[in-house]
Amino acid sequence: MPTLPQLDPLHGNGHESNGNSHEQNGNSHEQNGNSHEQNGNSHEQNGNAPNGPAPTLASATQQQLYAELLTRLGEDPTRDGLLDTPRRMQKSLGYLTRGYTQTVEEVLHDALFDVDYDEMVIVKDIEFYSMCEHHMLPFFGRAHVAYVPHGKVVGLSKMPRIVDVFARRLQVQERLTQQIAEAIEKAVRPQGVGVVLEAQHLCMMMRGVEKQDSTTVTSAMRGVFKTQLQTRNEFLSLVR
Ligand code: ZN
Repeated sequence: MPTLPQLDPLHGNGHESNGNSHEQNGNSHEQNGNSHEQNGNSHEQNGNAPNGPAPTLASATQQQLYAELLTRLGEDPTRDGLLDTPRRMQKSLGYLTRGYTQTVEEVLHDALFDVDYDEMVIVKDIEFYSMCEHHMLPFFGRAHVAYVPHGKVVGLSKMPRIVDVFARRLQVQERLTQQIAEAIEKAVRPQGVGVVLEAQHLCMMMRGVEKQDSTTVTSAMRGVFKTQLQTRNEFLSLVR
């Protein structure tokens, strides 16, 4: 059975604490995907130490780690259908967590406009896909975002992008909701912000309680959405 030899838990811990710098290097990892793939295959075919020292937990490439994970799950990463899976996993997980390399400032850059408008702006039914941080399984649904401007509005097309900056990370739905509200509050300085998320969690649907039809609803209300019942009710009635 192919395994990663000389796994050193101390190295492993050091690697984990470097998580942030690893994320920042995400792009260069992807560019090196092909050479990783070649290393991964030769590792799998030859078992231990094909060219030079055997990889440790800290030195193994992301794709070698996925090949090892497949083995631990009881699979044979050298069979035809799985040969390219570690490379696909790296690409796919990089995409699903790309929010770590994005900021709201970048997304918005010059999409703020001065306006003389102080009625509620609502963007409903923003589709989002995220992953729960407890099981790394998807949760997905719709976000409804509203604010009452205070001299400035943000381009409407930017709302889904703000949602994505935070959705494309490992999340819990409650924090995701708060982070979207906070980001809009900080960027637009409105009179208030309301965010409602409705989502289905695969970690509840595929495992655990196996509740297929339950929807989790979370909300974050700031400013006038918190202090004025009428504003909050207007928002909630418009997104129902
Ligand atoms: Zn979960």
